[in-house]
Amino acid sequence: MRTTERLIDNIDLEQAMAKAVDLCKSKNIRLTKTRKRVLEIIWQNQGILKAYDILEILEKEDKSAKPITVYRALDFLIENGLAYKVESINSFFSCPKIDQTCEFQLLICDKCGKVEAVPTPEACRSLDQYANELGFKVTSKVIEAHGACKECQNCTVGK
Ligand SMILES: [Zn+2]
Repeated sequence: MRTTERLIDNIDLEQAMAKAVDLCKSKNIRLTKTRKRVLEIIWQNQGILKAYDILEILEKEDKSAKPITVYRALDFLIENGLAYKVESINSFFSCPKIDQTCEFQLLICDKCGKVEAVPTPEACRSLDQYANELGFKVTSKVIEAHGACKECQNCTVGK
């Protein structure tokens, strides 16, 4: 069965954070207070934010927060599969339901900026296969698809 549920909605963030903490513990890495907060900020903002927006939120809570604070935290989160850089819109994405073992594709609405992740193990497998045949070593494979979400399409129809 193909799941089409929206991954960022209806998530118990506390439980999700506990899972992220456990994951880091199992890898013997530290999810520091700042790293944790950056992850939480992304989750609380529909799972997608620009680094600058993260900094703005963080600065309100901690006057000593600097761009480098945010970038370092993001680097850590990306390195450990807790967040992803969405190159095409220069933003950072994280969804508690997505982990490193889950292969997914991003659907990016160009009208409202909403990003949804859909699990696509088959598509990722065939990409791996083609890459293998070409002798290409894939290090990152977040597929970014652009378009308009259901709500935004309905808006256009109404006008
Ligand atoms: Zn939209």
